Formats: sequence, C-alpha cells, structure tokens
Amino acid sequence: MSKISHHLPESVLAAYAAGSLPYAYAMVAAAHVSMCAECRAIYEAHQCAGGLVLDDMEGMAVSQNTRRQLMDSLDLEAPPEPPAPRAFGVYPAPVAELLGDGGPRWRKVGGGVRQQILHYDDAGSIRLLSIPPGRAVPDHSHGGLELTLVLQGSFSDETGQFGCGDVEVGDPDLEHTPTAGEEGPCICLAATDAPLRFRSLVPRLIQPLLRI
Ligand SMILES: [Zn+2]
Repeated sequence: MSKISHHLPESVLAAYAAGSLPYAYAMVAAAHVSMCAECRAIYEAHQCAGGLVLDDMEGMAVSQNTRRQLMDSLDLEAPPEPPAPRAFGVYPAPVAELLGDGGPRWRKVGGGVRQQILHYDDAGSIRLLSIPPGRAVPDHSHGGLELTLVLQGSFSDETGQFGCGDVEVGDPDLEHTPTAGEEGPCICLAATDAPLRFRSLVPRLIQPLLRI
C-alpha cells in the first residue's frame, strides 16, 4: 500500500475512542484505523486514557448508581471496533460487513459515477462511491463535515491529492470537484452529517431521489 499522507484529525480519533462519534463518521474512522498504523496507535492511546479514568473511579467514593449511569452513558453509541488489518480486498472489514455477501450493489449517479448508500438517517449518511478514471463527481459543497476515505485508486481536488488510505476532511466551507486519477476507478467511502448541496440544477433536482 502506498504511504498514507492524509490522516484523521486527533479530535476525531479521540471521539471515536470515547464512543461519541456519530455512526457514519465512526465507520470511516474504523475503516481508516484498520488501514493506518499511525492513527491506530493514537486511537489505542486514547482508549487507554479512557480506561485509566474508569480505573481511577474504583478508588473513589462513588455510589453504584452514579457509576452505573456513567458506564451506561459511555455505552451510548458503541463504535464499530477497528478490525484486524484488511482481509476483504478493497473493502475494510467494517465496510465488508455492511455490504454483506455479494459486494456493492451500485446505482448510477450520472457521469459514470456510481454509489451505494450503506447507511442513512437524520444524523447523516455513509456511502460508497465509484468514480471512473479521470472523471469527476459533480461540483458540490457541504452542509456539514464530510469525511472521505480512499479505498482504491486516487482522487484530487482543489485541496490536494488523495491516495489509497488517505482521508479528506471537508468542512462546511469546502466547495470541491473530486476527480479520479487516471490509473483506474477510484472507490471511496464518504460520510456526511448533512445533505450535500450540489451547485448545478440537475443534480439538485435529483438529489432527493439519490439521498446524498
Ligand atoms: Zn491515519
């Protein structure tokens, strides 16, 4: 695998370790951590730090009730566990589990771009994108934070170039046109916490149908 040069922010890894990351982002975090030794080490350090806080509570005069409430609150959204290094070809284990047998069931989005929505709710969505070599996904900005992890191939946009294992963190102000590298189709895992806002009319019209 080529060297990973775009990592998850430490704040995201800390939230993932604490179990407070929304599901869609936690899925990207789990997939990236399974591909990146550097982020895995940071994630594990935060997990240890969280464990130490709980250990300290053993010696404190805390009522059983308070302790149980704290444990319950920590258990609110169990993040997907980072798996052993990838054993499912292009798809890291957490993604492969969502896909089930048979792999992705792609739907055409236009311009040769295909996607499969893996999860969608009021809090956000997570999807796989497949972009043909040299092609672009429609120009769009974000309503919120978008995390995009490259699983195969590469893409580039106004902010830089992203290869296999790299994560792009798109903040709400980012307007970009990700274009796949010429070496082959680019497959990405993308998580958002709000609907994307496409700039041109046609994508905007079909956006409710695509739920992206
Ligand atoms: Zn990393």
